[in-house]
Amino acid sequence: FFIVFEGGDGSGKSSQVVKLAAHLRLTGRDVVLTREPGATDIGRRIRTLVLDPSTGSEPSPRAEALLYAADRAHHVATIVRPALRSGKVVISDRYVDSSLAYQGGGRDLPTEEVAWLSDWATASLKPDLVVLLDIDPAVGLARASGRAGHDHIERESLAFHEKVRYKFLDIAAEDPRRYLVVDATLSEDEIFALVRARVGERLP
Ligand code: C5P
Repeated sequence: FFIVFEGGDGSGKSSQVVKLAAHLRLTGRDVVLTREPGATDIGRRIRTLVLDPSTGSEPSPRAEALLYAADRAHHVATIVRPALRSGKVVISDRYVDSSLAYQGGGRDLPTEEVAWLSDWATASLKPDLVVLLDIDPAVGLARASGRAGHDHIERESLAFHEKVRYKFLDIAAEDPRRYLVVDATLSEDEIFALVRARVGERLP
């Protein structure tokens, strides 16, 4: 069973994935907690290449899309698929929808093309459940800025992050069974109660 958390910067994904993993482990599940970009050795190098401002360079939008796709292809092949095949629950902090939202919505690349690229990279692996933590970027960015490893956030405008937000919401609206949209300004415990309830309903 493959669960993905998506959302803008500062939406609180990282705390929720940790809570969910701990909860599922207590119920006896074998859980793999992972993330994009940067869960693998190659992925960490890609992450630095794309996101670390100290490299002094930024990839062009199509190059950026390909680098995230390469990170994802390697992540799926070496971590996600093997874990799913051995019956584990995989929880990933970001997946394909981040590319649709950031490279499609944010950078204005055609979303269908980003979807096609992602589908190829993952050999069509789809999550069973996606939790979207929705947040007004004005609030999210204030929360996220200043965190270690997040200097890249200031590179983009508020308008960019607003396009990202609305793309996430559009995607989620298309498939209400597979997506749980949660207001990320609720408290951590309130959010987790909603997540836990939906995961409980869906997990076989
Ligand atoms: O905090 P986190 O590790 O999720 O940060 C990853 C960053 O990478 C995000 O801030 C986002 O700006 C960026 N990103 C992106 N496109 C993706 C995935 C992540 O622009 N497909």
